[in-house]
Amino acid sequence: MSEFKHKLVVGLEIHVHLCTKSKIFCGCELEYGATANTRVCPVCLGMPGSLPVMNKRAYEFAVMVGLALNCEIARFTKWDRKNYYYPDLPKNYQISQYDMPLAEHGYIEIPLEGGKSKKIRITRAHLEEDAGKNVHSTGNYSQVDLNRAGTPLLEIVTEPDLNSPAEVKALAVELQRIVRYLGVSEADMQKGHMRFEPNVNLVIDIGGKEVKTPIVEIKNLNSFRAVERSVEYEIHRQLDEFGETGKTMGMGNKSTRGWDDVNHVTVLQREKEEAHDYRYFPDPDLSPVELSDEWLGDIKSRLCELPLQMQMRFVNEYGLSEYDAGVLTGDRTTAEFFDNAVKAGGDSKRLCNLITQAGLKMANEKGCSLAELGFSAEDTAELAKMVEAGDVNTTAANTILEKMTELGEGPRSIAEKFNLIQKNDAGELEGIVDEILAANPDVVEQIRSGDKKSGKARSFLMGQVMQKTKGQANPKIVSEILAKKLG
Ligand code: ZN
Ligand code: MN
Repeated sequence: MSEFKHKLVVGLEIHVHLCTKSKIFCGCELEYGATANTRVCPVCLGMPGSLPVMNKRAYEFAVMVGLALNCEIARFTKWDRKNYYYPDLPKNYQISQYDMPLAEHGYIEIPLEGGKSKKIRITRAHLEEDAGKNVHSTGNYSQVDLNRAGTPLLEIVTEPDLNSPAEVKALAVELQRIVRYLGVSEADMQKGHMRFEPNVNLVIDIGGKEVKTPIVEIKNLNSFRAVERSVEYEIHRQLDEFGETGKTMGMGNKSTRGWDDVNHVTVLQREKEEAHDYRYFPDPDLSPVELSDEWLGDIKSRLCELPLQMQMRFVNEYGLSEYDAGVLTGDRTTAEFFDNAVKAGGDSKRLCNLITQAGLKMANEKGCSLAELGFSAEDTAELAKMVEAGDVNTTAANTILEKMTELGEGPRSIAEKFNLIQKNDAGELEGIVDEILAANPDVVEQIRSGDKKSGKARSFLMGQVMQKTKGQANPKIVSEILAKKLG
C-alpha cells in the first residue's frame, strides 16, 4: 500500500457561526435548540416582497477575525447570490460574497510539537448566511427546520499548506481558540458552530517524477477527532486507489466524500460542482458595504492579544513549560487571570501550580470559569507570595484557595483562621524535635548505628513532628534540625 513515497497536501474550508444576537439579514433571534420554526420571519423564510437588511455586528465580527488572521481587509464589498435548490434553502439562493470577500491574503500561526509553530496562509474569508436544517428523525418523511436559516456564517479558506493530520487538527484547535478569544463565536463543535472541510490529496514520487492524486473534499466535519482521522484515512485510501488505478489529478472532477464516524471511513458523495454552476450574481436587494477609516479603527480597538502570542509570552517571559502555557491560555479569562496575578507580583511558577492544580480543578467541578470562582488575581498573587515567603506550604496553599472560594476572604485571614500558617521559628521547632527524639530512643539509635532502614526512620521522626505541629512545621527547617542532631 504505502510503497510510494508521498507527501500529504491539505487546504481547509471552514464555516464558523458568529454569535450575534440576531440573524444576519433579519431581526430573528439566534437561539440554538429552540422549537423548530419558531425563530423565523418573512425574510429568512424567503417570502416574496421581503427585504434583507445587513446586521452590522455580524460584519464587524467577521472583520475582527480577518484582522486576527492577518488579512487585508476590503474597504468595499458587495453581496452575491449563490443559486441552488435545496429544501432547507427557501429562497433558492444563499446570500454570500463571491469575487469580493471581506478579507484576503492572511495567515494563521499554529503551534506544533516542541514549541515550534507554522504559518498557514489564509486565502480568503467571507460572510454568508447559513441554510436551515433538514430533519430526518420522523418515519419515512423529512422535515425542515428554518431556525438556523440566516445565521451569520464566516467562511474561511486556507491555502494547501498543511502537511499532516496533526497540523490540520492544530489549525482547527487554534482557530477555535482565536474566535473564542475575540468573543465572536462560541465555537461549540457539538452544536455545529464550526464545520471543517479538508481538501486532501497526495503528491506521490514515482521514481523521481511527481504526480498528484485527485483532490477529495471531505464534507462537514464537526469534531477535531473526525478532522484528524478522516485526513489520516484519506492518505491510505488515496495511496490504495493510486496503486490500483493510477488515477491522477485532472482525470475526472474533484469529488466530495463524507466521513462515516462509526466505521471510520470516507464515503463517496458526488462529483463536485464548479463555481459557474451556481450562477453567482450581485444581490440587488442589498447595498454594498463601505468600511470607513473610522469604522475600521473602531473594530481594531476591540481586538485582544491572541492566544498563541500569549502562550509564547508565558513561555518566554514567565518561564512556563509549553504544556502549562497551553493549559493556561486554553481560554481567555484564565489566561488574563494568570497574567494579572503575575503582574500583581506573584511568582509565575507558583501561580501556575496554584491555578492549574487547585483553581482549574475547582472550576471544572463547579462547571464555571476560573474567574467566576470568586477570588481575585491580586489575592491569588498574595497567596503565591505567602508560599514564597514560607508562611504557608504548598498543600496548605491549595486548601486556602478552596476556602477563598467558599468564604470570599483574603488568603492571610483564612490561613490564620484555619491555623495554616507554617511554623518557621527554628528555636521553637528545635524544642519539638528534642521532645520527639526523647520519646523515640530506639529509632534514634537505629539511625545513629547506620542501619539500612535509617531513611525510613528519619521519615518516621519527620512525621511525628508534623503530627505534633498539626502539619504546620516547615519541613525544610525540621529536616535541617534532624540532620544536625542525628548526623
Ligand atoms: Zn428572520
Ligand atoms: Mn460556504
